[in-house]
Amino acid sequence: MQDYKDVTWDWIGHHLQVKVLFSSAGLATQILVNDIERDSNFLIDVGDGILRDLVSLSSKYYENINTILITHGHFDHVGGLFSLLSFFRMINRSKKLTLISPSNVVELEGLVRTFSDSYGDSIPFELELIAIEEGLDLDNILISAFPVQHRGSIIGGGKLPDIPSVGYIIQKGTERILYTGDTGYFEQLKEYARDVDYALIEGTHKDKETPFHLTHSQAEEIGKQAKNYQIIHQIMSR
Ligand SMILES: [Zn+2]
Ligand SMILES: [Zn+2]
Repeated sequence: MQDYKDVTWDWIGHHLQVKVLFSSAGLATQILVNDIERDSNFLIDVGDGILRDLVSLSSKYYENINTILITHGHFDHVGGLFSLLSFFRMINRSKKLTLISPSNVVELEGLVRTFSDSYGDSIPFELELIAIEEGLDLDNILISAFPVQHRGSIIGGGKLPDIPSVGYIIQKGTERILYTGDTGYFEQLKEYARDVDYALIEGTHKDKETPFHLTHSQAEEIGKQAKNYQIIHQIMSR
């Protein structure tokens, strides 16, 4: 018998609570956001190890994931999605699952297509893919996406192209949480983070400046605009 432990939340608000399941650049990032009143869950990004992270919690947490937000198509943010979708099929999930992402995330489209083409009619749940423009109201939870500054090769070689990449704000009542996704520094980020109740800020590099990730001090500068913040997505030394 597995020893299930309950969640130690990273942040607890009035309406929402947040657990960073795992986050490290080039490995994986997955964040669980719980709507306290409804006990339903959002998952933001789905990197490798997602199933191990989720089954270490009580099953209600993965059973009640109704919406998945994807920031961009890099493997450390979508690499576990095929496993998660297949796991939901295996446990005979019947509730609809909504996947939200910026448009034209080719990796995500490919993963979802492979899952749908492989299992067709034997998928017991409805899977809806929504390309978010700016905002979306999901039963009184407002999801807003903002474009960020990120790059990476889709088809190798040459100059790294910009890719579709966003950060998200989730709002319930007056409570707001923000996740930057992967991004370089730009001034507007501070405006997005201003006065949000809890901000998750990427801080990939300790001090190496790049146009498409933040250093710890840049992340702190943005985080200080929020009421509470946490730096995630730190690179592990290899
Ligand atoms: Zn990343
Ligand atoms: Zn990335």
